[in-house]
Amino acid sequence: MSDLTITLLAGGVGGAKAAEGLAASVYASTTHIIGNVADDDAFHGLWVSPDIDTLLYSLGDQIDRERGWGRKSESYQVLNELSALGQETWMTLGDLDLATHIYRTELRKQGVRASHITQRLAKRHGVTVPILLPTDDVVQTQVKTESGWLSFQEYFVREQCKPKVLGVEYKGANIARATSEALFQIAKSDVIVIAPSNPIVSIGAILATPGLQEAIEKSTAYVIAISPLIAGKTVKGPADKMLESMGKSTDSKGIYQCYGSLLNAMVIDDADRDELPWLQDQGLDVLVTPTLMKTRDDKCALLTNTVAFAEQQRKQRAA
Ligand code: GDP
Ligand code: CA
Repeated sequence: MSDLTITLLAGGVGGAKAAEGLAASVYASTTHIIGNVADDDAFHGLWVSPDIDTLLYSLGDQIDRERGWGRKSESYQVLNELSALGQETWMTLGDLDLATHIYRTELRKQGVRASHITQRLAKRHGVTVPILLPTDDVVQTQVKTESGWLSFQEYFVREQCKPKVLGVEYKGANIARATSEALFQIAKSDVIVIAPSNPIVSIGAILATPGLQEAIEKSTAYVIAISPLIAGKTVKGPADKMLESMGKSTDSKGIYQCYGSLLNAMVIDDADRDELPWLQDQGLDVLVTPTLMKTRDDKCALLTNTVAFAEQQRKQRAA
């Protein structure tokens, strides 16, 4: 048990691994997660919130562990039927997963806040670490490519991240209102951990919610980011390609360029030890440790080490 108030900013797969690490640690009961809603989109008339569902299914141990997303023991009868009816079915939505989307869509129609829908789904999956949303409003990441703008899922799933990324926009973010829960949680945090998530489309979208980044800057929390890159490459997904095409370097320097003055510290992999002096020159505390999370123990160890390091550095700074 620990009395440190911890907030994790998390996207999908990398975010969920970090969330599971904290949930398995001594910090579980004092941790809150702020998830990403900007990958949300409508399919077959249903509202799908992929990153939030990845968090819910992972923490509820319902996730397909091989893929890192979707439900385990899933079947695709509905999707196959939709395909036979001539519908586009590139977004892989299984039968169990569809129940989540039907439920979310129905409650949205009744006017229930997205945050409350998430709470109800968390209850169903036995998830005890609270998942907060940055906003209840609709924010949708759009990706600019050589052949025009794509929705995030068109880029990510349909086009399999192949098009060159010329820019990213968070549609709706300028008029979105941050949830009071997220702002309150940030204000009272001792440590804010930024998961090894895509810094542009996962964490960038959370930080694009008006007031959220300012709340982090204003809080006295110690902010530590775990790099999603190992030896210049992502473990999964397009973060490296996105950083490159946006003129940022594909190493912890590039991650630092995304977060800049928000950070007190970074966690980088043993393989990237040579990046330590540059990060320290920027005034950051740096933890060098294995960051590849495969097992539950890997996740728990990395997140425990991350928070323990933050706590120790925070105390030293205060002394
Ligand atoms: P998405 O929303 O499903 O794309 O997932 P996130 O944005 O949360 O995370 C994507 C990032 O997680 C990618 O850039 C991966 O490199 C990173 N990632 C996934 N697993 C690991 C891991 O075990 N260790 C580290 N350091 N990064 C990881
Ligand atoms: Ca995502």
